[in-house]
Amino acid sequence: MEIHGSTYIVVKGFSFESSHITYTKEKGDYGLHGHSFNVEVKIEGTPDPDTYIIIDTSMIKELISKIIGELDHKIVLGEKQRNIAKILEKAGLDYTSIPFPQASMEALSQYIGTILWNKLKTENNVLGLETCVSQGINEYACYSVKKNRLPPA
Ligand SMILES: [Zn+2]
Repeated sequence: MEIHGSTYIVVKGFSFESSHITYTKEKGDYGLHGHSFNVEVKIEGTPDPDTYIIIDTSMIKELISKIIGELDHKIVLGEKQRNIAKILEKAGLDYTSIPFPQASMEALSQYIGTILWNKLKTENNVLGLETCVSQGINEYACYSVKKNRLPPA
């Protein structure tokens, strides 16, 4: 059986609860509301020849728990929502902000995926990752990133 060079996708799921204030160009302001967000992390890679494991998933859990821990049970704002931050501060409400216009599913998947990728991109067996954030049944956004592979010499 030829096993060398096979690529796999390892998947691990997480969840957190947050509120956000979103708006769309089509329908305007959706106001403050919350979701149980689900996060699916998909790590693409080739298994280590000795262990036949791409990466220890407990390592993913540790990294994601840290990132999600800063979002969980908080109001998540975008950087264009600083005026709202001032109101929340006055009211003594806990919030956090991410460097995107607002905390949309797209922004959250890229935010989580980018931090995770910065930790995993130096792992030998890892070729890429995809981070999907869902805010409802069959409603999700996925951000993906891959290592740049040089063409054969
Ligand atoms: Zn929402």
